[in-house]
Amino acid sequence: MTYGLTAEQLGLKARARELAQSEIKARAREVDATEAYSWENVAALKDAGFLGMTIPKEFGGPGLGFLEAVLVIEEMAQVCGAAGRISVEANMGAISAIMAYGTEEQKKFAAAFPLSGDKPAICITEPEAGSAATEMTTRAVRRGDKYIVNGAKHWITGGGVSRLHLVFARTFDEAGNEQGIGGFIAVRDETPGLRIGKREPAMGLRGIPETEVLFEDMEVPADMMLTPPSGLRRGFGDLIDAYNSQRVGAATVALGLAQGAYELALDFVREREQFGRPIAEFQGLQWMLADMATGIEASRGLIYRAARSKGDRAGLFPDPVMAAQAKLFTSEMAVKVTNDGLQLHGARGYSRNCDAERYVRDARMFTIAGGTAQMLRTLIAGGEIGIKTPQTRDGYVKLAAAAARQVAAE
Ligand SMILES: Cc1cc2nc3c(=O)[nH]c(=O)nc-3n(C[C@H](O)[C@H](O)[C@H](O)COP(=O)(O)OP(=O)(O)OC[C@H]3O[C@@H](n4cnc5c(N)ncnc54)[C@H](O)[C@@H]3O)c2cc1C
Repeated sequence: MTYGLTAEQLGLKARARELAQSEIKARAREVDATEAYSWENVAALKDAGFLGMTIPKEFGGPGLGFLEAVLVIEEMAQVCGAAGRISVEANMGAISAIMAYGTEEQKKFAAAFPLSGDKPAICITEPEAGSAATEMTTRAVRRGDKYIVNGAKHWITGGGVSRLHLVFARTFDEAGNEQGIGGFIAVRDETPGLRIGKREPAMGLRGIPETEVLFEDMEVPADMMLTPPSGLRRGFGDLIDAYNSQRVGAATVALGLAQGAYELALDFVREREQFGRPIAEFQGLQWMLADMATGIEASRGLIYRAARSKGDRAGLFPDPVMAAQAKLFTSEMAVKVTNDGLQLHGARGYSRNCDAERYVRDARMFTIAGGTAQMLRTLIAGGEIGIKTPQTRDGYVKLAAAAARQVAAE
């Protein structure tokens, strides 16, 4: 099944597979056990041209699309979830937002990071603003030609290893008037006041750190503020459009993990014998494998469809509903498939010497990060029924008042 991929895309996928199987796979267990960020993997991905793939040619990249990135991410994640995530964040997310909405100077500045091996970090989540991201309290106040940023983010992927950071903050002018939520381009070890806090001891994907990122009078030049096309007031929506690419990327890591877990289980059931025959002959297990294979194929279809879609006004990013459907379905599928993969191994699957348990731990996060399964269902339902359902109590009051006005007018 080639999914309508071109010869170039199939060639790219084959090249990614070769690197994943010949080099990345060999380091996967050690990366997990030591919880160390693999700079060897970064170098291998960079040398293969798999970081910064979506950077346009005029900024030094190959100018490929999200689908091409997806093909590479899937191959990496099949053998190593952490390598898959590096491939996501060096091609999507923060870098996509900057390349879409940045000034020429910002684009030129940012493009150099993934192309030289950096995995940019996107800083949105705060201890009191998770799913309710727009309730963030990090503040950026204009002072002359700078913004002074204060606040704290947590669970930031790549904290302490990423250099380029895109930091979201409530923005205020010199007089203290709130302008909306803006993105600020900052660089670890260069931007004064950016500090990395404690690392989270995460369940899975241990080869990539999640940390606090703290801003203590962080000084960002005003020309390093990302102004989205709708302006600051409504701009968070634009910036979050860029996140739709990241969602497709995250779904692809989950897909790769499920495929890896499935193939491992398939090999095992063919070889393992009980009751005098390979366990693959038991129909109960065959049905498990059938469901696993079907879930994987359905996910791949949703992901490729989302990666090919153009959902925003400028046609820069995947359709939000398609991206949400791809991530929702694939993340839940991956939790189930990796868990079934472990089950098919019996006790061996429960051992830390078997990759089956790593797949389970690595897959678990995708129903949480980058929009929880619950929030994605809300987004999808909103798209389907054409109502942006308010989540705050205040929002419901406003909605009820608007409905009452409409009834009165009729
Ligand atoms: C491994 C990992 C990596 C991450 N990387 C990053 C990163 O790089 N950058 C970044 O900014 N953030 C990152 N995050 C944070 C992530 O985006 C948030 O965890 C996520 O948005 C959910 O926020 P929360 O954890 O505060 O959960 P909460 O928002 O507190 O949610 C708790 C529970 O309530 C449910 N819930 C909340 N509101 C509603 C509602 N209105 N309707 C129905 N259910 C609801 C949620 O679905 C969840 O089940 C990462 C998280 C993880 C686990």
